[in-house]
Amino acid sequence: MARFDGKTVIVTGGARGMGATHSRSFVAEGARVVIADVLDAEGEALAKELGDAAIYRHLDVTDEQQWARLIEETNAVFGAPAVLINNAGIGGKGAFVEDETLEDWRRLLAVNLDGVFLGTRAVIPGMKAAGGGAIVNISSFAGLIGTPNAADYTTSKFAVRGFTKAVAMEVASHGIRVNSVHPGYIRTPILGPLGDEVVHGKVALDRMAAPEEVTRMVLFVASDEAGYSTGSEFVVDGGWSA
Ligand code: NAD
Repeated sequence: MARFDGKTVIVTGGARGMGATHSRSFVAEGARVVIADVLDAEGEALAKELGDAAIYRHLDVTDEQQWARLIEETNAVFGAPAVLINNAGIGGKGAFVEDETLEDWRRLLAVNLDGVFLGTRAVIPGMKAAGGGAIVNISSFAGLIGTPNAADYTTSKFAVRGFTKAVAMEVASHGIRVNSVHPGYIRTPILGPLGDEVVHGKVALDRMAAPEEVTRMVLFVASDEAGYSTGSEFVVDGGWSA
């Protein structure tokens, strides 16, 4: 029996990068996966690749109404989500804080933080009714230590970590676990052209990681194997924040 047999899993930002490897691995481990993203072509193609165990639905994580529709459609097609992976996120423009526009600041916090709040709020009623569930919020090493030229991103990822802990306390009595995962530098499109040179002298393991190395942690945290962990940080950063 696979770890997620018969379970419904929503992966936000599930069409590309780490989200896509999470989606593939959940299907490989028996789950029915809703790939929720704004990248319609990539999402449809991935759902087709994964067959009957996956569907793609357009979701802008900042949009309350789109969340309501996503939950309705998920319930109708696969049944209520037992697992939510709040993975969708964007990077900042690398500006010094005094050069950052309010518009850029708000946009980043809307996706990286409001999106996590809206998703969490949307799945809790179904999880309560089912007697349990697991929410995994993707933070970052930037949710553990300060990072220059990224006050917006760092703020959002520290906030996701705090939100995780607060909600974990609220829902533990319903069998719902809420944890955060903190990747370091992972080879995905969000990093653009950055190469291994950015980690030299900073990351103890002296390399970037493949998305699958984070996916393995995400699946563990979402699974019953992590059944005694809630409100916790799971770090996959090669020793960056150590
Ligand atoms: P990525 O850019 O490859 O993927 C992000 C996904 O989120 C994309 O599919 C994108 O379309 C989706 N997305 C963006 N805005 C959205 C919105 N408003 N609504 C729905 N979906 C939206 O990046 P990734 O590296 O795979 O990042 C995944 C998560 O991991 C992010 O939260 C990111 O902050 C975090 N992270 C990444 C790294 C890294 O080095 N790659 C390190 C630490 C944390």
